Formats: sequence, structure tokens, C-alpha cells
Amino acid sequence: MAEILAVTFPEVNRIELRDVPVPTPGQGEALVRVWSSTICATDMKILTGKFPGVRYPHIPGHEWAGEVVETGPQVSDLAPQDRVGIEVHVGCGHCQRCLEGMYNLCEHYGESPEGHAHVGFTIPGGLAEYAVVPRRAMHVLPDGVSYDEGAFTDNVGIALWAVERAELRPGERVLVVGPGAIGLLALRIASLQAGRTVIAGTREDRLQLALRFGADAAVDVRGEGDAAAAVREALGGPADAVIEFAGTAEAAQLALAVCRRGGRVVLGGSTGLGTTMQVELSTIVRGHLDVRGSLANPRWVSRRGLELIRSGVVDVRPLITHHFALQEFETAWSTFFERKGSAIRVMLHPTGGAV
Ligand SMILES: [Zn+2]
Ligand SMILES: [Zn+2]
Repeated sequence: MAEILAVTFPEVNRIELRDVPVPTPGQGEALVRVWSSTICATDMKILTGKFPGVRYPHIPGHEWAGEVVETGPQVSDLAPQDRVGIEVHVGCGHCQRCLEGMYNLCEHYGESPEGHAHVGFTIPGGLAEYAVVPRRAMHVLPDGVSYDEGAFTDNVGIALWAVERAELRPGERVLVVGPGAIGLLALRIASLQAGRTVIAGTREDRLQLALRFGADAAVDVRGEGDAAAAVREALGGPADAVIEFAGTAEAAQLALAVCRRGGRVVLGGSTGLGTTMQVELSTIVRGHLDVRGSLANPRWVSRRGLELIRSGVVDVRPLITHHFALQEFETAWSTFFERKGSAIRVMLHPTGGAV
């Protein structure tokens, strides 16, 4: 094995499937055979140059799972054939934020010599047959969790952390805005505690699916009507907490508009540059709102997320709508971004069949 097949973004706005040299694991790293790897909206931000810190040529892929085939020096707690899911943020480990455990907020973002890595962003990712990743990015998959499910290691951590940022109390009214994969996972996790949970979105098929992820009601916020009023009615009053994973200004406006005085608004959708909004500041000040951004998740949140998948409390399988070989990447990409066949997550299988 001298070369492997990899999806490559040679420059902004260009995609190529090409052979690249097989990477070698260095100190604290392992070579992983990629079994299951998905595409998400962030990959488009990377392709179009809207994600700061990415350098081209770039191999994307940040939602994936695979099998360890070789470990580098100073990796003593992983061995070949271990099954791992990838959590993409690897902090430097020595800055103030990392020392607090918030390695997703590392002050040395993108600085490899400092020990920082962001798999699929600042280092090559898992839309390839094999990838080298730091040991610290890997979670051994619990028995019974498949590679396909393991590809949600990062997604489930992001969703779980946003719910934790919302500091839900049992019985509260919760709105989730944006029924994408992460929004649906957040909805499911929030519904475990909430008294009433409502999803707001713009696509009928997603809203229907949300009812299977724990929503008591779904509100279609397309069109002219008063979306905030419709949401309040569906919730039986204003929301105690809102979790947003739509990434648009309209979604954030809705989140602020439906939250009760003294409630919590967690914004998680707009991770890329370029989305702005106008806000009536008294909505926040007089509303006494806690408005919180949520970016990825700190360490061990994904670990607990995997436990929710293992126990069956969170079922990610309905989110996997399509399967492709890596050679079919172009079709997979258009299927996902054009939402063909109600695509939610399209699963690539770089080195094997569906698992
Ligand atoms: Zn993603
Ligand atoms: Zn750091």
C-alpha cells in the first residue's frame, strides 16, 4: 500500500478524487482505516473558503469512524483492530482554555507545532481510505455501536453539549430550530428532560421525522405567518430554552423572539463566516436572556454521547439516508447538497461496504 484514494479540495471551489501517499503515524498518532464517513454542510463551507484556518490542498472528512491499523510512538492504549470514532477538535493541551478542559476553544487553533489539530479542517480528514489522527481525537466505540453509528461521534457530542449549554430543567418548554442531523439529535436529547418539545423548520419531510426524534409538535416556519406566534402556541407558551442549529439569521431571530423572559437561547448553527443579523437589543436586555454560542464540544462529551447511542436512547440510524463507495463521491456530494431522496446524512464507505 503506497497510495490511497482520497477526496481532495486542491483549492477553493474544486473537488478531486485522487491518489495520495499513505500517511505515516507520528508520535501520539495512529493510522486508521476509514469504514464510515459522512458529508455535512460544513464541508461546503470548507470547499468555498468560508471556514477560517483551512489550507489547500485539503482532504476533508470530519464525521467518521474506522479501525486502527498502526499506532505511532507513545500510543500505548490503542492497538490494531480497535474500532474508533473521531472527535475532531484536538486542543494544544497547554493554553488557558485547554487547561480548563475547553479544548474546542483552544487559543492555538490551527497551530500544529503547538499540538493543536482539527481533523478534517486543519489536518487531513476521513473522506479517504485511510487517515492519520492524534490519539486524543479517538474514542473506542462501545460494543454494539457500528461504524455507521460511530461516524456520529462528533455530531452527538455537538448536540449533547448544546443541550447542556441550555441548562434544561425537567418539565421545561423547549424549542429546537433546524431539523438537520445535529438539530434532530439535540431534539432527541432535549426531549428526555423537557416537558414539551417543539421543532421549527422549513422542510416537511424533516419536520415529520422530528416527531420520531421526540418532538411533541412540529412548526413549519416558511411563508408569511407569524412564526413566533405559531411556535408559542405549539409550546403552550414561550420557550424556557431554545436550541438553534439552522445557521440562518431568521432562525436566530425566531429563537430570540420565542424565548421567555429570563430564558436561555443557545445558538449553534452559524459556524462559518458571513451570517449577520439585526437585533432589537431590548429583546435581550429587557428579556433578561442568556444568549449563548455553542461551538463543538469539550472533551468526554462525545464519550457520553456514544453511550446514549449504545444504550439505544439516541438512535442515529434514521439519519443515514444513503450509502456510497468513495469512488461515487461526486454523486454522494450532489445527493447531500441537493437533498435528493430526502437526504440527511449520506454515508461513504471508503474501504468497504455498509456496516
Ligand atoms: Zn460536520
Ligand atoms: Zn489549547
